[in-house]
Amino acid sequence: MKKILNYINGTYCEPFSGDWLDNYNPSKGEVYSKIAYSSSEDVEKAYEAAKEAFPSWSNTTIEERSKILLKIATLIEENLDSLAEAEALDNGKPLSLAKAVDIPRASSNFRFFANAITQFASEAHESVGLNTMNFTLRQPIGVVGCISPWNLPLYLFTWKIAPALASGNTVIAKPSEITPMTAYLLGDICIKAGLPKGVLNIVHGTGPSAGQAIVAHPNIKAISFTGGTATGEHIARTAAPMFKKLSLELGGKNPNLIFADCNYDKMLSVTLKSSFANQGQICLCGSRIFVEKSIYSKFKEDFVSKVKELKVGNPFDGDTTIGALVSKSHLEKVRSYIDLAKEEGSKILCGGNTVTVEGSENGYYLEPTVIEVNNNDCRVNQEEIFGPIVTIMPFETEDEALQMANNVKYGLSATLWTNNLDRTMRLSKRIEAGIIWVNTWLNRDLRTPFGGVKNSGVGREGGFEALKFFTEAKNICIKYDE
Ligand code: NDP
Repeated sequence: MKKILNYINGTYCEPFSGDWLDNYNPSKGEVYSKIAYSSSEDVEKAYEAAKEAFPSWSNTTIEERSKILLKIATLIEENLDSLAEAEALDNGKPLSLAKAVDIPRASSNFRFFANAITQFASEAHESVGLNTMNFTLRQPIGVVGCISPWNLPLYLFTWKIAPALASGNTVIAKPSEITPMTAYLLGDICIKAGLPKGVLNIVHGTGPSAGQAIVAHPNIKAISFTGGTATGEHIARTAAPMFKKLSLELGGKNPNLIFADCNYDKMLSVTLKSSFANQGQICLCGSRIFVEKSIYSKFKEDFVSKVKELKVGNPFDGDTTIGALVSKSHLEKVRSYIDLAKEEGSKILCGGNTVTVEGSENGYYLEPTVIEVNNNDCRVNQEEIFGPIVTIMPFETEDEALQMANNVKYGLSATLWTNNLDRTMRLSKRIEAGIIWVNTWLNRDLRTPFGGVKNSGVGREGGFEALKFFTEAKNICIKYDE
């Protein structure tokens, strides 16, 4: 059986423990490969390699660094088919989605930051009349840690690694143990691209073992983490006494506010995607849909009928729109919210059942599910489900919609559907979220800041924000004589 090895100091290697974890293909419910079960010893080995590589990499010209990262981007593109197949097999997402979104975006991440670093500049402040000149030197931090989740495996893994490397750091990265395959394949691409050994080190294994060892390592001074809010809190607690720099991109429970004056057809088709893309396993999915009362009945009917047309199936079938959920335990967690919804007095408008897919009978499939809730305080509307489940509920006034949008502990993103510019501005300013999409969803320009407020995280990624995170700003103050 295929073994997913660590990639340390430019070569693939087995874990010190000699132990292996099962890696499941969620579309079949079968183990198809074995993952290195890494511990603090492997992280230490990765740290030594990264430390050794840092002086040279941080002094490599920007042009050269950029050239290597561009080469990685090109190699990802050239391997689009095999990487997309690996992602679909490992994660359960439709192959078409991996081909159209995950892998192209992983390539764009490297291309974007390879270019961005060539334009990254810092400020100078002349203290006029005092013969003093200040400038800000932005220096790489050293060895940094990047930890990513399973929902968009290579997409989010590279979203962290690319800016960290572009700005001159050396990296120890850990993908989710549930979806390690494309991160494993990235090692080979780095070798082919000529990335010097030790610059990127990829350690596999569980969060509590390998992940915790990265976070707890006293000399890894910055951690960029994307994952659940509870894990983020644990990481923050571990890192705080060591005063590490932290970027935490955490969970969401995003509102989708639909006003009667919107472009209805466009809203309906995009809302279908914002609800169920990637089986609803995107932190940015609009899982709470609030609809203005005057169009609520029409929306309910049209939306449910469109949801019923979605095709749940094997990720490798061309007409599949909803693939498998990522794991058995995740399927069980997501399903438990359907039972909870019933207990809470909500109404299941469609879906709610697991699906048996012919030829993939043991896969983790669930029907896309729409639940009509009668208040925003129910647990189904307050807790992150992270699966193919959305709730709908009517509102009467803009203020009521705003209050419900904000009445949740998360604050990652929100979507507004309206053609009223005044309302757009009023709500965009008052909604508590890091990203507001107006008449669109998941529209990402990589130069823009990305991140959440409240329990959705701390810090921003994207564009120069990411390059700022991965560098330390130093003030150089020069006094001179005329
Ligand atoms: P987890 O928090 O369970 O895991 C995320 C990563 O952290 C995994 O690599 C995991 O390893 C690792 N990890 C777990 N425990 C520790 C630890 N103690 N120390 C260090 N690392 C640890 O999240 P999921 O993988 O379940 O991802 C889903 C979550 O991610 C959702 O809440 C979703 O909203 C959020 N997310 C947020 C995004 C954002 O940008 N804000 C984007 C995408 C997802 P392992 O899996 O091997 O245990």
